[in-house]
Amino acid sequence: MAYTITRLCVDCLDARCVNICPVDCIYEYAGADRARFPNQLYIDPEECIDCGACEPECPWGAIFQEDAVPEVFTADIALNHAIHDFNDHFRVARYGRKPPPDFQQVAENKRKWGVDETLMSDRMAQRYRHGSSKRT
Ligand code: SF4
Ligand code: SF4
Repeated sequence: MAYTITRLCVDCLDARCVNICPVDCIYEYAGADRARFPNQLYIDPEECIDCGACEPECPWGAIFQEDAVPEVFTADIALNHAIHDFNDHFRVARYGRKPPPDFQQVAENKRKWGVDETLMSDRMAQRYRHGSSKRT
């Protein structure tokens, strides 16, 4: 079962997941059809080895195993799979570190996309328990 990136990543793109992925299967879209492929990263489900390393690395909680994707993001699974229909338009994402978001920003982003905050994973909750991320 592959992991998938949801639109909680849109416009965040800090690419922490890229740095941790052992098989370089996280891609950015370099084409022009932004209506179809939003400004976020995508996991190639055929290359993903299901190691799970990227999920806790994402400060926005945007990465899920496919069978754990919140219902509001179901369409994002197909979008990650669509990489194979547009191979020429995807390239391995470049790693670019950004300051991590704080708890409020993460919560606001989830609300923006209609996600119940209680869907935050246990690891995410632990990370933000004291109000802000200490990750750099
Ligand atoms: S770590 Fe999360 S928010 Fe950052 S680029 Fe990867 S999926 Fe997107
Ligand atoms: S689960 Fe592992 S192999 Fe798949 S995208 Fe995440 S880090 Fe890469």
